[in-house]
Amino acid sequence: MKLINNLYFYPEQGMLDCNTYVIKGSPGIIIDPGNPDYLSFRINAMQQDGIKPGDIDTIVNTHLHIDHCGANEEFKKLSNARVALYPVQKKNYQLVVVDGARLFGMEPGEFTVDYLLEEPVLKSGNIQMEIISSPGHSPDCVCFYLQKEKVLVCGDVIFEMNTGRVDLPGGNTDDLKKSIESLSRLDIEYLLPGHMGVVAGAEKVKQNFDFIKSNVLPWL
Ligand SMILES: [Zn+2]
Repeated sequence: MKLINNLYFYPEQGMLDCNTYVIKGSPGIIIDPGNPDYLSFRINAMQQDGIKPGDIDTIVNTHLHIDHCGANEEFKKLSNARVALYPVQKKNYQLVVVDGARLFGMEPGEFTVDYLLEEPVLKSGNIQMEIISSPGHSPDCVCFYLQKEKVLVCGDVIFEMNTGRVDLPGGNTDDLKKSIESLSRLDIEYLLPGHMGVVAGAEKVKQNFDFIKSNVLPWL
């Protein structure tokens, strides 16, 4: 479903899946294709919005937990899109993709990386996304900030009334606190997390940060 301008939202469908966000444009970008079991459902939903897999050129991830990147390889085959990682994600690939999945007794959702994003910015048409390294939930977490649209795609760093867990490989409470502190200073109208609902409205986003800072972070 369309959220704002060329930004589309496809909610998580079940266990070990995540929210997917798509930018329709040139290049077309998919953020977190999710779990391969739900990929055909997701592609159908995208097609209802007039987005074909072939319209997507770039696959990026908020981080490389299996529920976010499990479908990278399969989506790549269906679309000919290329997977672009941020350097911190490539650096932590083994820890997050491989060790992380084994902790759950699962086969890692491995995929081939096509290129690295050398600059902390990603553009599609007139949409510009700043890539903000936001470690804590995992060391490779990044957020995508659309300053003009006041949108933050925040992966598992922040949820509605909660934060991501810190007990998976490479998780770090102090890093998460610092990441959330600095993200809370951004001008945000739409907070788009990797799980559960979207937080819409600047006041609601501010209340969400305040709630997390006073009720969640102190107990981590
Ligand atoms: Zn995660």
